Amino acid sequence: MITKQQIEAFKSISTPFYFYDMELLKKTLDIYKSQIDKYGYNAHYALKANADPRVLEMIRSYGLGADCVSGNEVKLAVKSGFDPQKVVYAGVGKSDKEIKAALKAGIFSFNCESVPEIKVINDLAKGMGVKARISLRINPDIDAHTHKYISTGLKENKFGISPWAFQAVTDLIAQCSNVELIGLHFHVGSQITEMGVFETTCRRVEELQKWFIDHNIAINNINLGGGLGINYQDPNGDPVPHFEDYFKVINKNLIVRPGQKVHFEPGRAIVGQCGHVITRVLYVKVGKEKKFAILDAGMNDLIRPALYQAYHDIENLTSDGRKIRYDIVGPVCESSDCWGQKRLVNTAQRGDIFAIHSAGAYGQVMAMKYNQRDLAKAVYSDQL
Ligand SMILES: *Cc1c(COP(=O)(O)O)cnc(C)c1O
Repeated sequence: MITKQQIEAFKSISTPFYFYDMELLKKTLDIYKSQIDKYGYNAHYALKANADPRVLEMIRSYGLGADCVSGNEVKLAVKSGFDPQKVVYAGVGKSDKEIKAALKAGIFSFNCESVPEIKVINDLAKGMGVKARISLRINPDIDAHTHKYISTGLKENKFGISPWAFQAVTDLIAQCSNVELIGLHFHVGSQITEMGVFETTCRRVEELQKWFIDHNIAINNINLGGGLGINYQDPNGDPVPHFEDYFKVINKNLIVRPGQKVHFEPGRAIVGQCGHVITRVLYVKVGKEKKFAILDAGMNDLIRPALYQAYHDIENLTSDGRKIRYDIVGPVCESSDCWGQKRLVNTAQRGDIFAIHSAGAYGQVMAMKYNQRDLAKAVYSDQL
């Protein structure tokens, strides 16, 4: 919830900018950490959700590891002080350069997504005289019931290794002297709000794991990835994701073998609600059938609505006029640069300050300079 004092402070800052509520981030991490500690789970924060230096520092200070999807993310994680022994690295297209950088950093695990990738990691590790720890990212063929662009665990998705390839993979690993199989990895999608999806995932993990046990292959680590959703509809009323329900479902449904460690890779759930795009109304344009509120923030600042039809709650922070409906749009020359249609907000006029909520995840990291626009800066609640 943005406070009256914060709104006052916004009035002297040029817009658009990202506003990070560091108290909410801290509260979210407090609850998350107490939950993983309760069950003895390990967590690796997914850097791709938000890589702002202060956000990273806060997350690192809770002892979380890092989940990376590129060589530069691995480098950034290590540079930001994350323990290399807690860094995991996934991605269907790891380049030789990226693999070498991660081998040099001595990361905990490569989450491997194909048979040829394992061969390349082995060759590169041999060349460097090191051994790479690898986990198999498995495509469990599960429908995450989320937007198709953020589903990753269906058999038609590009991610992971399918069960029919297990024999080929384990045969290859047996011949590779510079890779060591340490675990299985699953990540079925993002913004998952149905707990049933995680229940199904746990059951699939057990079925798939059996194949390895039957073949006398020890699996010391199970990584369930990220994916827990946040409440985009009601960010003010429901700001902290339902970690308790989530871990309860996991704990109840996942069969953990003696000595086995369980890992998670939360991204959105940690940072989603602490970020807001703060923007001013440039113009209110009255059409025949509708009113447009034209903001100074656009899809280049936060691409989620344009990219995957995402919903973000929008609030007029500086008006208490009666609520009316606007099509709220950005300034970028694309029809998809639309924040929402027929949105009910307090009567707007030029200069009003709007908040686009739940913008902490996949927001600032995806910003671009399209139309030669400036990149929005970050402003932190504890530095206002
Ligand atoms: C993106 C990603 C995550 C984080 O997903 P969230 O939905 O943001 O929690 C975790 N693991 C992998 C492999 C990812 O690609």
